[in-house]
Amino acid sequence: MSYLSRILATWYDAHARPLPWRSSRDPYNILVSEIMLQQTRVAAVIPFYAAFLNKFPTVHILAAAPEPVLLAAWSGLGYYSRARNLQKAAKIMAAAGAFPTSYDQIRQLPGVGDYTAAAVGSIAFGLAHAAVDGNVIRVTSRISAEKGDIGSAVVRRRLIAVADALLDRKNPGRHNQAMMELGATICLPRDPKCPECPVEKYCQARGAGIERELPLKQKKTLMFRVDRRLLLVKKEGKILLWQRPADSRKMAGFWELPEAEMLPGAVKGKCLGTFNHSITNHIYRFELVSASVEKIPVGFKLMNGNDLARQPMSTTTRKALQKLTVETL
Ligand code: SF4
Repeated sequence: MSYLSRILATWYDAHARPLPWRSSRDPYNILVSEIMLQQTRVAAVIPFYAAFLNKFPTVHILAAAPEPVLLAAWSGLGYYSRARNLQKAAKIMAAAGAFPTSYDQIRQLPGVGDYTAAAVGSIAFGLAHAAVDGNVIRVTSRISAEKGDIGSAVVRRRLIAVADALLDRKNPGRHNQAMMELGATICLPRDPKCPECPVEKYCQARGAGIERELPLKQKKTLMFRVDRRLLLVKKEGKILLWQRPADSRKMAGFWELPEAEMLPGAVKGKCLGTFNHSITNHIYRFELVSASVEKIPVGFKLMNGNDLARQPMSTTTRKALQKLTVETL
């Protein structure tokens, strides 16, 4: 047990909130509380927890409950798939005649993920598995001053390893609850109460003065979709292209298929295909449309296959020409 874990345990014993499920070591009661807490705040779960266990005090009673009765008892908590999964788990346990006692067996119950299996296993059976939820990710990222993006799988694995290294293997249930309690009451997302924190001295982010900057989560880049239409004008087996002016800021001198706005007099025909092209945070969706023109406008040129092969062309034009079948051309 590390020094940090010992201090954390002492702090937890003195400061843990007296939540109703904390007085129980019954695995069924703990499973019910952990499933209720999966997507619901502690304060919202408290009134439902006791009422639910009053109505369904054992695995067998829950397993036998008609679904409307079950859903009525869950009503107000939301995410009803949790109630259905809990009953499926109860049926499995009722058929097996016992609550599973290994991490892997608990993990296989419907609606139970890594975190819930570790929480239930450690609290009810003393199984040495670190329970890692969002709170614990935040606490471990600060304690270890992890500067990587917590959205990345590699960084999450690193933080799970930190949580595992800190785990008090003699009393993993208390340790896991202490880590969660620290995250829920002291190591808050925006405003960590470091001067009140029992592990302040051992927290690397606090030592470096970067606790408010962590954990780091990169924002997903918003992608914008833009629709464009390219015209394929064919004459005498050749294709009509235009050339970007020599002083163009982008791709000066490159040849491109014309966009619909460049040939307002063109008579448009059928769609020949579509393709996407991404540039930074834009996804351009190009539609290729056959068209005809009476006269070749200034700056445009009809080109055959040999000409095309020798000229600089933008990626979108190359993609468009590749899209077209030999028959189309
Ligand atoms: S010192 Fe501050 S940042 Fe570090 S674990 Fe404690 S509350 Fe979190």
